[in-house]
This record gives sequence, structure tokens and C-alpha cells, in this order.
Amino acid sequence: MRVRSVPYRGFESITQPVPMGHEYCGIVEEVGSAVKNIKPGQFVVGSFFASDNTCPNCQFGYQSSCMHRESVGGAQAPLLRVPLADGTLLATLDIPSADLIPSLLTTSDVLGTGWFAADAANVKPGSTVAVIGDGAVGLLGVLSARQMGAERIIAMSRHEPRQKLAREFGATDIVTERGDEGVARIMDLTHGIGADSVLECVGTQESMLQAIHSTRKGGYVSYVGVPHGVELDGGELFFAHVHLHGSPAPVRRYLPELIDLVLKGQINPGKVFDLQLPLEQVAEGYRAMDERRAIKALLRPEGDSTDGKLDTEGS
Ligand SMILES: [Zn+2]
Repeated sequence: MRVRSVPYRGFESITQPVPMGHEYCGIVEEVGSAVKNIKPGQFVVGSFFASDNTCPNCQFGYQSSCMHRESVGGAQAPLLRVPLADGTLLATLDIPSADLIPSLLTTSDVLGTGWFAADAANVKPGSTVAVIGDGAVGLLGVLSARQMGAERIIAMSRHEPRQKLAREFGATDIVTERGDEGVARIMDLTHGIGADSVLECVGTQESMLQAIHSTRKGGYVSYVGVPHGVELDGGELFFAHVHLHGSPAPVRRYLPELIDLVLKGQINPGKVFDLQLPLEQVAEGYRAMDERRAIKALLRPEGDSTDGKLDTEGS
């Protein structure tokens, strides 16, 4: 199942109008009769897959492969129904202040996914990390690697505003080359060894091979970019000597820790939102991201100027 689908660019056929968006946070309006813990009036964050948070897969920390998972979509709307609310949603103790909303919103997907990318690539204190992809997920992969103590973080980007944000989030080096040239630059920067951890946050054949070829022997590649036409050769994998770990991020596993880091002011991932629009102007948000005028747009439903009732997407 494709999760972080990109119908906007025509990768999937759309036959009728559908609400977009799977990244959300907001105030609970109503709960179903089976919901025990989540209460109306609470501020909550959830993930793009609903999960019971109790089955074996959830217990292992892979809530995005919950045995009862359901997709959560259509979040760019005044109201959103979230299935399996007790397992899916995390409520904060208080209603957070308005300035924290963008950062809390990122925990729902782009930060949760960037964090998983760093965790799955085994980023540790002192690690040398390369991040392929300068979208919101890649940029927050940089932030995550920094939080996990990486010493050197090489961000691949050829886009000046994104390079700047990558540096702000902790990148120590910027590489503008792609493909084999990008691999060669990473090899130069790592004395011909390769990076300990490489985060693949794009999902193309070129970026996946770039990730595998940029990793040192025994190192780790994580892949969180939704694949478009990626095919790996068995012989090449056999001789690569790298660990591979990816898939849709189990964001729910990380929500308690990430929300805590945001509420304590230790991270400010909301900086990836460089455009805020009312929900009615959602089309302009997509245009701006598609034309690379914006990294990521945040949408606010009507009547929401300060508090948390909102939702968004666009990665
Ligand atoms: Zn489960």
C-alpha cells in the first residue's frame, strides 16, 4: 500500500475529487462509543496509519504495520475521522500554545519519518551521516541525526533556502552533486570509506543506489522515500555489505518522545513550514510546493487563528 502518495504530480490516476492530506493535529470534537481514553477537548496528534498500539507488530514498535491498521486520509478538511483513536492518537496534558503548533504538526509525519530514517540508519553519537533528499523529511532527518549525536552530517541539496535550513538543523557539509557524482563527493569527504548511516528520503532509483553506494562497509541505509520505479539487483545487494531498513515510518512509536522535545523547546522542526495559508487556499499551497517556492505549507481551517484545530500535508 502506498502511504505518502503523490497524486498531485500525476503519479496516480485520480478519477474523482478526493480530499488530500494525512498529516494532522487538532482538538477532539467527538469520540465514538468504543473510545476509552481520548476525550473531547483534548489536543491530539496522530499518524497517517491508524493502529491499535496493542497487537504484536505494534508492541515491536512497528505501528505502521499494525495488524488492524487503517489509512488516515483526507486531513485537509475542517474535520477528520481518526479510526482506532485510543491507539492512534496521543493527547497532550494541556492545549499547547499557538507558536508550538507548526512543530507539533511535524511530529505527525515529516519529523516522525525523518526521525525513523535516522533511527533505522543506526545514527549514534559520533556517526557520520549522509542525507539524500532536501524535502521536509530529509531536512528533519538532518535535525534528527543531530539530536541523536551525529558528528558529521552531509546534506545533499542544490537548493539554497533548503541548504540554509539544513545547516540550521545541524548539517556540517552540503553536497550539490547527484547520482554517481554525489557518491564520489561523499567518498571524498569520508576519506574513501563512506558514511556510517545514509538516509534515503527521495524514493527514486538514482537516490536509492546513491544511498547504497555512499555507505561504508557494514554501515546502514534507511529508506523512507516512497519508491517510484526502484528496482534493486540481487547481485549488487549481495556484494554491498550494508544494512537496509526502511518502510512507512512507525510514527506512533516516536510520538511521545518527539512531542516532549517540542514542548520542552529543544527542537524547532516547524521551521520547515515556510508558508501558512487558510484551508480554502490549499491549491495555492500545492502550487507553491510543486514550483519549489515553498518547502512546506501549513493549512489552517476557518476560524482557527490561534488554537490547534488544524490539519495539513504536502510532502
Ligand atoms: Zn497493532
